[in-house]
Amino acid sequence: LSVSLLVKHYLKQIEDMNGRLNAFLSVYADEALRQSHSIDRKIKNGTAGKLAGMVVGIKDVFAYKDHRLQCASNILQGFQSQYTATSIQRLINEDAIIIGHQNCDEFAMGSSNENSAFGPAKNPINEEHVPGGSSGGSAVAVASDMCQVSIGSDTGGSVRQPAAFCGTIGLKPTYSRISRHGLAAYASSFDTVGILGKTVEDIALVLEVMSGADEYDSTVSQQPVPRFTEALKNNKYKVAYLSETLEHPSLNYEIKDQLNDVLEDLKSDGHQVAEAHISMLDYLLPTYYVLTAAEASSNLSRYDGVRYGVRNEGGNLESMYKKTRSKNLGVEVKRRIMTGTFVLSASYYDAYYTKAQRVRRMIRDETISILEQYDFIISPTTPTTAFKIGEMKEDPMQMYLEDLYTVQANVTGIPAISIPIGFDNQGLPIGVQLMSKSFNEADLLDISKQII
Ligand code: GLN
Repeated sequence: LSVSLLVKHYLKQIEDMNGRLNAFLSVYADEALRQSHSIDRKIKNGTAGKLAGMVVGIKDVFAYKDHRLQCASNILQGFQSQYTATSIQRLINEDAIIIGHQNCDEFAMGSSNENSAFGPAKNPINEEHVPGGSSGGSAVAVASDMCQVSIGSDTGGSVRQPAAFCGTIGLKPTYSRISRHGLAAYASSFDTVGILGKTVEDIALVLEVMSGADEYDSTVSQQPVPRFTEALKNNKYKVAYLSETLEHPSLNYEIKDQLNDVLEDLKSDGHQVAEAHISMLDYLLPTYYVLTAAEASSNLSRYDGVRYGVRNEGGNLESMYKKTRSKNLGVEVKRRIMTGTFVLSASYYDAYYTKAQRVRRMIRDETISILEQYDFIISPTTPTTAFKIGEMKEDPMQMYLEDLYTVQANVTGIPAISIPIGFDNQGLPIGVQLMSKSFNEADLLDISKQII
């Protein structure tokens, strides 16, 4: 099998399905074919990289030189990147092929892909349902075999939740494991580059290639990068479930039942499974939404009609800003900018922002203390399976509840993975989430491989 045949296979899949599923916003067909020929030559000469022949799709929040970068927003219409994100460049250096940019919620804000300026991607298992978000297109593309692996971003669950909704694996590595250079910023102290794929081996390989220090992002950890591909050791572990998460009223009973089956399987495979407790569960979402809105309001101030993308003239500078932003940013993005501006305003800063920072620390301390006693915390990835398109669009609070289980890892900075464990009675996928200590992706991949 040659790489050029492989690329042709994925291009055919995209041609057949993308019109319905809306997973890709741009497809780089000619370029991918050209690259595939040169990689085929390298394979012949024995000079091909570690990812030779891996066909990868990237979320529309990653810079790829001379290609669109629109964050699924009207405000960046026509914008082209002048450089390539470090994470993506490292894949290219190992001969991966970037097949296209994928649909997502505008600026990665959302849980259903309905906030995209291009309309939602569709869940391939049932097209009336959402694929999850914000990396919806990335999950759809993997689940429907339009590419082998997708690169998404995870600020509060945006890789894991769509992975769970579409039946793929989704990894959010430790914060600072992978460079954010060239990833459009949403909430900088939460944003993580994530990976969606069908096998643990693919995820391990891509993680290994993307991770590690980067001169363009001083926040990347200097920790050595293990060979994740050699991490699948079949070790036995101590796994904790937090009873408060399983008793939460929003949790669908089918997901709960199947999680309990996984716990039984883990026990019979020789792992230790124990109950632990979290007192901060009700504070996870408020803390996450106060802090990410604050960071977003500051990060998104750069989209002002001057520096990037679209401009709507308004007579003077002030009204040009106003017109450009009012006309070209979506409802959810505006909601976050306004909330964020409010919590950062002089009179409310201490009441909201400072308080949320303190609570963040308490959540982190509690989470870390649990992970000092157990290797992993296991939970559902989501309280529900994929809901219908339109069902929650007008109800942001309900939509935010989708992130109940995923935000803890981002608030704390620890790695987390979602793996598919089954289906509900409508045939929609169910995912289970595992979190572990910072920089312990290796064990996370090992246990995932054993559960799958
Ligand atoms: N659904 C969450 C939000 O809207 C997570 C987004 C993300 O991880 N990018 O903020």
